[in-house]
Amino acid sequence: MSLTAARNLGFPRMGQQRELKFALERFWSGEMDETTLLEAARELRARHWKLQTDAGISLPPSNDFSLYDHVLDMAVTVGAIPSRFNSVEGPVSLATYFAMARGAKDTAALEMTKWFDTNYHYVVPEFEPEHLYSLRSTKVVDEYLEARALGIETRPVLLGPVSFVLLGKPTSPGVTRAQVLQQILPIYKQLLQRLAAAGADWVQIDEPCLCLDLDAATESRYRDAYAELRATASLPKLLLASYFGGLGPNLDLALSLGVAGIHLDLVRAPEQLEVFLARQVPGIRVSLGLVDGRNVWRTDLTWARQRVDAAVQALGAERIEIAPSCSLLHSPFDLNAETKLDAEIRSWMAFALQKLEEIAILSRAGNGDDGTEKELAENQRILESRRSSTRIHQATVKQRMATIDDSMLHRRSAYPERHRQQSESLSLPKFPTTTIGSFPQTAEVRRMRSAYRAGKIDPRTYEEFLQEETRRCILFQEEVGLDVLVHGEFERNDMVEFFGEQLDGFVFSENGWVQSYGSRCVKPPIIFGDVSRPQPMTVRWAQYAQSLTQKPVKGMLTGPVTILQWSFVRDDQPRSETCRQIALAIRDEVADLEAAGIRIIQIDEPAIREGLPLRRADWPQYLQWSVDAFRLASSGVEDRTQIHTHMCYSEFNDIMEAIVRMDADVISIECSRSRMELLDAFHRVRYPNEIGPGVYDIHSPRIPQDEEIADLLHRALEVLTPGQLWVNPDCGLKTRGWPEVKEALTKMVEAAVKLRVSAA
Ligand code: GLN
Ligand code: ZN
Repeated sequence: MSLTAARNLGFPRMGQQRELKFALERFWSGEMDETTLLEAARELRARHWKLQTDAGISLPPSNDFSLYDHVLDMAVTVGAIPSRFNSVEGPVSLATYFAMARGAKDTAALEMTKWFDTNYHYVVPEFEPEHLYSLRSTKVVDEYLEARALGIETRPVLLGPVSFVLLGKPTSPGVTRAQVLQQILPIYKQLLQRLAAAGADWVQIDEPCLCLDLDAATESRYRDAYAELRATASLPKLLLASYFGGLGPNLDLALSLGVAGIHLDLVRAPEQLEVFLARQVPGIRVSLGLVDGRNVWRTDLTWARQRVDAAVQALGAERIEIAPSCSLLHSPFDLNAETKLDAEIRSWMAFALQKLEEIAILSRAGNGDDGTEKELAENQRILESRRSSTRIHQATVKQRMATIDDSMLHRRSAYPERHRQQSESLSLPKFPTTTIGSFPQTAEVRRMRSAYRAGKIDPRTYEEFLQEETRRCILFQEEVGLDVLVHGEFERNDMVEFFGEQLDGFVFSENGWVQSYGSRCVKPPIIFGDVSRPQPMTVRWAQYAQSLTQKPVKGMLTGPVTILQWSFVRDDQPRSETCRQIALAIRDEVADLEAAGIRIIQIDEPAIREGLPLRRADWPQYLQWSVDAFRLASSGVEDRTQIHTHMCYSEFNDIMEAIVRMDADVISIECSRSRMELLDAFHRVRYPNEIGPGVYDIHSPRIPQDEEIADLLHRALEVLTPGQLWVNPDCGLKTRGWPEVKEALTKMVEAAVKLRVSAA
């Protein structure tokens, strides 16, 4: 009998206890050797395959695992290793692999950027002129065989060749993506043939770029590349996976690629099922992405089951697979590990393992298993209890939302007048120096925080410890000679969690980690209901820090869009609505900081770009509500109060107009990895306010050279007026150590001072 299959597209890599994170970090610090690291990784893979098959998933994915990032893996596989790493042939050493990701002593790392609209960062491949590509890693084959040796048949996952070249970046105008694609296709063929020879029947080939707007040239690149693959003898069957949206106008293109199966994200784009079924494409298998891989809420199984039934009816059960909407990389691991979550709210949720169970139930339902009726009824009961819960809706929040009007989105005066008042009240030097907010979160800071959280030290001891850290941090900044100080954020675990914990409408998991980049994980807050601020959240620390110095201390807040973007958001009302609720809470905080004598307030919005919808047609609406939310949060202050914002890790070119419309007095922005290219964009839109383009890449342990900083600043001055330029690192310093921070910031301040002299 043929059955609908329960499948998965990718599993969280870090492990239930974030084992991979800890192994990597021990390896990097020299406490663990390579063999032990690789053994730990192998154990995790074995455990994860078993968990998936135990949950009822057949043919679980392999090669979804990565020691750092799957795009980096693909770059290494095809030998896209920039020449500065001096690795031209043979297997790529782990040292080279991690140097590409993190930089090494004298070698800058590759850039990182957001993976589509997620908070996962991938390493951006570089395509150099005259580069020779060749098969440099057989990881995908090795991991397939590894699973097989354990008795588990898997479906290897490969990032598809077209998405790979689209996600990478040519390092000079002499290189085109089309050339790179031509050069790497033979390597893909080789790999696919090797997989087939090893026994792989199916390969999942991820082409998430099919959910983007594609120009005609890219479309034909897709056609040509897959025609070439099709023409290759003895390849495995390909399941073409796209996610984070619908194929939309690219459906025909996807179907023309001649693959044996296609995966559809039916959470983000449910409408595409009907369109697909109406096509009556003969032979092709379809994977129904019905379980949300991007959120923590239970699936409406009745809704999903209707989709399954429709597909089974149209195509026959043997052609249907049930799957998550995308890889479960973006889901926390296991809801059962949560012991402290509010029971009612917890009952509405599903993490990766629970999502697999949902997939298994749906596949059994698709096969006409009556046993699933009870499970479906139970699911309906739970969803109904969520809809009607009084925990979710707060009358006061809804009333306040109704009072928002246009005047609340505008500062009193335009920037020139604000600038005048701010210069007067702050009297900063030219090219003012500052940092982005956090200072090193040392092992001691983290140990004290967890001791406090575990109730092992009393609030007073903890408070005194934080005060001491903050005091030392202020002294340090005065010593280094910075102009605008920060309190250091020692009381904060995470820039979103810290606020979420103090806001109503949020809950927190204990173990709901998801990978952000490399070994870094985040534990997104969960917004389940209406958001409000019961009391001030940051005023005490800002005030304390300001009391220690004559120099201005920046109040430090996370913006509404970033709080939204980095949380798991309720799915029962539009995201824009939830964002506005958060903006009102931040607006109140801004007012309280101002009233407490804080003259500069930074509202970080690093995530505003990543929230951008994947298709351009949807951009204006998003940019409207997200920028409005920032303005709602930031516009309630006097002209003389200086509003900063900070952004990092994105391509900002596309949203320059929106950044202008945010109307922050000063923006600090990540720039040093992209070597200031970004500034051209600020120049292009004639950015009217002040800018601090980051001159110290804080995501790398490397300390910038004097000339490097000076060079970056000079480049900045080619496109900015001297009155616009601030001098600061790329981002917060929390991941760095004190000695390197001292060295780097000292150099940075010296560079600013020199510039003042030479520009005078
Ligand atoms: N203020 C935050 C910090 O310094 C900003 C972090 C970020 O942009 N990701 O850590
Ligand atoms: Zn940042």
